[in-house]
Amino acid sequence: MEQPTQNTNFIRNIVIDDLDSGKHESIVTRFPPEPNGFLHIGHAKSICLNFGLADEFGGRTHLRFDDTNPLKENEDFAQSIMNDVRWLGFEWDALHHASDYFGQLYEWALHLIDEGLAYVDSQDADTIRAQRGTLTEPGTHSPYRDRPVAENRNLFERMAAGEFADGEHVLRAKIDMAAGNINLRDPVLYRIINAAHHRTGDTWHIYPMYDWAHGQSDSLEHITHSLCTLEFEDHRPLYEWYLKHIPAPSQPRQIEFARGNLNYTVMSKRKLRQLVEEDHVNGWDDPRMPTIAGLRRRGYTPESIRAFWGEMGVSKSESIIDMGVLENAIRNDLNDRAPRAMAVLDPIKVVLLNYPEGEEEFLEAALHPKDESMGTRQVPLSRELWIERHDFMEEPPRKYFRLKPDGEVRLRNAFIIKCVDVIKNDAGEVTELHCEFDPDTRSGMPGANRKVKGTIHWVSAKHAVAAEVRLYDRLFNVPNPLADKDTDFLEHLNPESLTVIDTAWVEPAALEGGGPAYRQFERNGYFTPDDDSTAEKPVFNRTVTLRDTWAKLSR
Ligand code: ATP
Ligand code: MG
Repeated sequence: MEQPTQNTNFIRNIVIDDLDSGKHESIVTRFPPEPNGFLHIGHAKSICLNFGLADEFGGRTHLRFDDTNPLKENEDFAQSIMNDVRWLGFEWDALHHASDYFGQLYEWALHLIDEGLAYVDSQDADTIRAQRGTLTEPGTHSPYRDRPVAENRNLFERMAAGEFADGEHVLRAKIDMAAGNINLRDPVLYRIINAAHHRTGDTWHIYPMYDWAHGQSDSLEHITHSLCTLEFEDHRPLYEWYLKHIPAPSQPRQIEFARGNLNYTVMSKRKLRQLVEEDHVNGWDDPRMPTIAGLRRRGYTPESIRAFWGEMGVSKSESIIDMGVLENAIRNDLNDRAPRAMAVLDPIKVVLLNYPEGEEEFLEAALHPKDESMGTRQVPLSRELWIERHDFMEEPPRKYFRLKPDGEVRLRNAFIIKCVDVIKNDAGEVTELHCEFDPDTRSGMPGANRKVKGTIHWVSAKHAVAAEVRLYDRLFNVPNPLADKDTDFLEHLNPESLTVIDTAWVEPAALEGGGPAYRQFERNGYFTPDDDSTAEKPVFNRTVTLRDTWAKLSR
């Protein structure tokens, strides 16, 4: 797999040059989402780039909703976008909407008509497409191409006034039907959509195409560097043509960079929307989704996402980043910051035969093994404990260092225990382990450093809190679910992407308020509480495992 160049950012170099040369005194960037879905991790690349550059060089960044298609967009999506940008740690210097410029764009369209640079075409979309030509064949002229200015004006004004049905006419720029770049073959500026817009209501019956709205919005906002993904490279000549032929207030520069892509997921909003609408996931913020809302719910921190894109750099070459790299970013962040706790997911009971019945005690344990400033917590202990079922084996293989009959193991933060009896039910299943603890191996006692090969985690049965735990795996079971055009990407959904465990027991300190909510449950991974938690039963999402077990398993 291709690894992106570390830390390089050619756009940052362009900005430095433009500031050094005095071309710009300061920079203005923008993040221009269409409010037709939730933001995903790919958008975060663009957000980090645009806001990051302005922050670094004392410039400004605008959040601009590219709300030019009333059929797909709504206010809820706009709200979620603002929420996600802020959560990532950025604040826009100005909030704009492409729809704020509909009036100005309309005036400029009339200007192009008056200059003989735009005309109303009354053919249907299929005919217009067929006349476009191909990469090797020039296009053919529309029979309406030489309509007189007055007629164009009249028709265009009536299009705007709502006199025509959808698709009856379009307004096209008059550029060059033989241009090598197909985008310049008389592109459409406006189409008729007789639909209300979530911000402009019934004012408009025509809506601008992306290319006609985008550069003009950039210019109106005095954007200096308009950063977009590589698929717009071919649109740049059109972007520049429009700005050259209207009285543009400023000349922004479009610069393209490679999209951020991850494997084992999909990132197009259309596909994500399908997953949500067809209930393949539990909403846009399902922790398996690559959306910012999903990652947040899963337990990703904004810092980890910013660090991830910072390390990946920005270039012009397309690459697909391994999901494991993103997981490493959150693992590294939480390794430093997550308080430690113990939780048992698949419990089996241990009875300490030599621990007095009815007694309890509280052991002081570090919240973080390497960061004393985090302080300590009180870990309750009593006669009955839970340990993980897989930490005991009745007939273990050689080199099994956890609990076995007559074997010893250290209980993390406590002491060494020895298994003296194995209790089974009628079906022969192990139901309880009877153990004896060695008081001499407590912390501070002479045997505190006595070595046994294994250390396991545990919780006190009397004190532990019952919890539901949700474990996640890749949403798809192939690296590129869209690779094969003949197979529906839904067929590649991983049926085991979610495992719900409702038998978990969690150390009480993990539920105390005050510090951060995320925890490392020792040996089990990093976890964060889910909003589905109730007073009776907390719910934890596993953000990521402690090690990249997935990479090993799939080898
Ligand atoms: P999608 O195809 O997922 O819907 P989009 O480009 O249509 O993406 P927009 O809302 O139009 O979504 O995107 C807003 C901004 O985010 C654009 O500037 C776009 O270039 C950028 N962007 C979208 N996806 C990515 C990505 N994967 N990597 C980097 N930037 C992206
Ligand atoms: Mg888009």
